[in-house]
Amino acid sequence: MDGTIRVTIWNEYRHERNKPVVQEIYPQGMHRAIADGLTGSFEIRTATLDEPEHGLTEEVLEQTDVLVWWGHTAHKEVRDEIVERVAARVLRGMGLIALHSSHYAKVFKKLMGTSCALLYRDIGEKERLWVVAPGHPIVEGVGPYFELEREEMYGEFFDIPAPDEVVLTSWFAGGNVFRSGCCFYRGQGKIFYFRPGHELYPTYRDPNVLRVISNGIRWAAPVSRDLPRYGKQMPPLEDVANSNERKERVAHE
Ligand code: ZN
Repeated sequence: MDGTIRVTIWNEYRHERNKPVVQEIYPQGMHRAIADGLTGSFEIRTATLDEPEHGLTEEVLEQTDVLVWWGHTAHKEVRDEIVERVAARVLRGMGLIALHSSHYAKVFKKLMGTSCALLYRDIGEKERLWVVAPGHPIVEGVGPYFELEREEMYGEFFDIPAPDEVVLTSWFAGGNVFRSGCCFYRGQGKIFYFRPGHELYPTYRDPNVLRVISNGIRWAAPVSRDLPRYGKQMPPLEDVANSNERKERVAHE
């Protein structure tokens, strides 16, 4: 990569238009708040559910290194054809950052292969996110933990496949715990699930949250190399056919 990462921030963009309280927190939508808060060498575009092809045309996806996804109330409205397209692009190397209630996004469930169900409770309780992989690039610049004064609780058990890396673990004032920052490799692509971001709280204005998302984008960006080849590989790289023949001759002598 030449340094600049092409980021598409996708948001279903419904709560911000339907619920005045959410509109007040994110007048331009969460996608705009996230776009404005990211720090790094990013070329950012946004896409929303109600655009043609949900804003995720073949062309947009081909020009996207990392896709950030926020969905909640309208997962079912995301067309299967687009879900297939996004998942295929991830397997070919596009990074995916799945935020908060996107644990139930069709594309996330498809790439995980499990129900992705969890416990939840929204009483606006405190969340403390502990760094549990201190050497990981996603927590660069983050302290041992950070706190969000008011958030929705997500609790274990979270029905995901065992993550390749767990970077953050949340504690909630009500007593639950949750794997809040989880990394997965799928095909050539990297996926980072990051828990915070309930629409009723200004979570995407929190500097630590924005830092983790920015770091997550850098981590999930594709590496610059050719895709692997698959299928039959002939001829062999070494002269094994002849050497096997020789071995057989020796055995029969
Ligand atoms: Zn929520």
